Amino acid sequence: EAKRSGQGMIRQFNQALSESEQERQALVRDLRQVIANDQLSLVYQPQFSIADGGLTGCEVLVRWQCPKRGAVGPDVFIPLAESNNLISGITAFVVRQANKELVESGMLGDTIRRVSVNISAQEFNSEKLMSSLLTMLHQSPQLYPYLQLEITETAALSDLSASVRLLTRLRELGLKFSIDDFGTGYSSLAMLKNLPIDEIKIDRDFIHDLLDQPRVRAIVEAVATMARTLEISVVAEGVETQEQLEQIRFCGCHEVQGYLTARPMEIDQLTDFVRNQWSSVSVVQPVNQ
Ligand code: C2E
Ligand code: MG
Ligand code: MG
Ligand code: MG
Repeated sequence: EAKRSGQGMIRQFNQALSESEQERQALVRDLRQVIANDQLSLVYQPQFSIADGGLTGCEVLVRWQCPKRGAVGPDVFIPLAESNNLISGITAFVVRQANKELVESGMLGDTIRRVSVNISAQEFNSEKLMSSLLTMLHQSPQLYPYLQLEITETAALSDLSASVRLLTRLRELGLKFSIDDFGTGYSSLAMLKNLPIDEIKIDRDFIHDLLDQPRVRAIVEAVATMARTLEISVVAEGVETQEQLEQIRFCGCHEVQGYLTARPMEIDQLTDFVRNQWSSVSVVQPVNQ
């Protein structure tokens, strides 16, 4: 009896497993389709100077609005794209579409002078990166001078000396580099020591803990001080409250990106935002402090 019910459980388990496997395969199939049909879309999240509230740039984030499933987050489909050889198609779309939308908006080079695009770890370590980037730059000549690539510590670390060579070459071509989710890897100091980079983005988790953890505040302050000496700009990401903003200002971070100052938005909203609401963004320190 016990044996039989055990087998029943295994059968159920296998069935559940194959259902989720089928769902995963269906997701990959649909993703392949939307990439091929250019049906992904973009949002842009502005970044601001903490010193004067000025717009410093924006990060481009990809979106998938699926008719069947609703919004599927990049946290779900980017890893899937990576493991199914679809990621370079996404990056190519993101660069091409950002170039098109930003040129049409009339903001590129005028109000928007830095555009950050995410490069996934798998792509960064692919042998095809250089040639696919060259193709992208060629196809997006207006965006090219303003383009910054965001990579993660883990991506750069898998072969540090190869990363140094790659970044050095790409920076000679005029590309800028940012280390995304800074502090979440195991060798953040090795990054600062070795990599030729323009910016680091302090991970949201640190920003979240700033207020009630003095140790975190000490770390962020030290990182900002080091970065200043190295002429690397420090962006605090995921800033949601005025209190967090005051903390990152106190720590010496240079720029802020987060829901407090602006959510990620479509290009038309971004145009409105830059025209109308920008002046009301509460970055500048109150006069009476
Ligand atoms: P990321 O590059 O670290 O991007 C920042 C994420 O934080 C975005 O989530 C953004 O919407 C979110 N965010 C911004 N401000 C706040 C805030 O104040 N609070 C909170 N809780 N979240 C905030 P999103 O768009 O869901 O993207 C998640 C991740 O997916 C990104 O993390 C990035 O790793 C990846 N991703 C997004 N777009 C692309 C892309 O075009 N290519 C690649 N390779 N990866 C992408
Ligand atoms: Mg990013
Ligand atoms: Mg990040
Ligand atoms: Mg992240």
